[in-house]
Amino acid sequence: MVDPHGRHVTYLRVSVTDRCDFRCVYCMSEHMTFLPKKDLLSLEELDRLCSAFVARGVRKLRITGGEPLVRKNIMWLFKALGRHLGTGALDELTLTTNASQLARYAGDLAACGVKRINVSMDTLDPVKFKAITRWGELSQVMSGLDAADKAGLEVKINAVALKGVNEHEVEDLVRFTHGRGYDLTLIETMPLGDIDGDRTEQFLPLSIVRARLLDKFTLVDIPYRTGGPARYVEIKETGGRLGFITPMTHNFCESCNRVRLTCTGTLYMCLGQEDAADLRAPLRASVDDAALMTAIDEAISRKPKGHDFIIDRRTKRPAVGRHMSVTGG
Ligand code: SAM
Ligand code: SF4
Repeated sequence: MVDPHGRHVTYLRVSVTDRCDFRCVYCMSEHMTFLPKKDLLSLEELDRLCSAFVARGVRKLRITGGEPLVRKNIMWLFKALGRHLGTGALDELTLTTNASQLARYAGDLAACGVKRINVSMDTLDPVKFKAITRWGELSQVMSGLDAADKAGLEVKINAVALKGVNEHEVEDLVRFTHGRGYDLTLIETMPLGDIDGDRTEQFLPLSIVRARLLDKFTLVDIPYRTGGPARYVEIKETGGRLGFITPMTHNFCESCNRVRLTCTGTLYMCLGQEDAADLRAPLRASVDDAALMTAIDEAISRKPKGHDFIIDRRTKRPAVGRHMSVTGG
């Protein structure tokens, strides 16, 4: 699949549920209204949709949410999608998780062919962790990380940089993650969906974080890429990699190779735009995939050139109305 701007679309992110057992302050409001269960695609339908994308040339699938591991029977989907790794049609099957259920599932994930996972963890302080996630416990995540290590999964930690919350903890996060052999990626908050607080108060430009790190560490730019928007440095003192994802201060759209599917079968061609294609109707209209394939091709032909994220300081409204947990991070 090649979009109108000459970019090859080889990466599909799939949000398998909009629900979550945490309520991170930058992601959700405390009292979220979730989709009615009847609107969700079944696991069989998700398998069929993902498999259609694989047939169209997608080489990498990332399962996300909401929290993917809270969806009932989710290992069935991992097992089903794992077959594409066996045939060589797919290079990578992976997931992004808050790790709350990882202690239970790490072994099963590895058995399905998952090799690398992204775990979101913004702080090493249990009190701050509770404040950020509202409902989470840091100890659950730590047990999840131990289980991932034991299962042989490669781990990357994602941390959202939050002004006044974890901004002075980045050095500790670097030492902790690199000490365990993990990569660390820092992310700027993006204005997606209504939350209870004020987004302009949370936003911390990573340029500031990077400048502060220079007091402690030697940062060497490296060409390492994971197919995502992160730009990496190697930290001389730890030998580990640190990535920066800066959607607000740097436009990374020129190399975008991905599209995003929601748990209701809506395809978003860009995280930062409202335009979407409904794939559930063609999926359900027929048991053969002809109409679905046409709908996918038509959607890719509309992939926009880039996002227009901006936090409107006057109205404090998010640039994009839907939450990250709907589109999948
Ligand atoms: N629940 C899983 C997790 O937290 O890893 C997967 C879904 S979560 C929506 C995916 C990623 O999006 C997480 O790393 C989270 O920190 C990030 N995220 C959520 N809302 C965000 C926002 N407004 N700006 C930037 N990153 C955000
Ligand atoms: Fe849940 Fe992930 Fe959003 Fe936190 S960031 S509320 S863990 S979906």
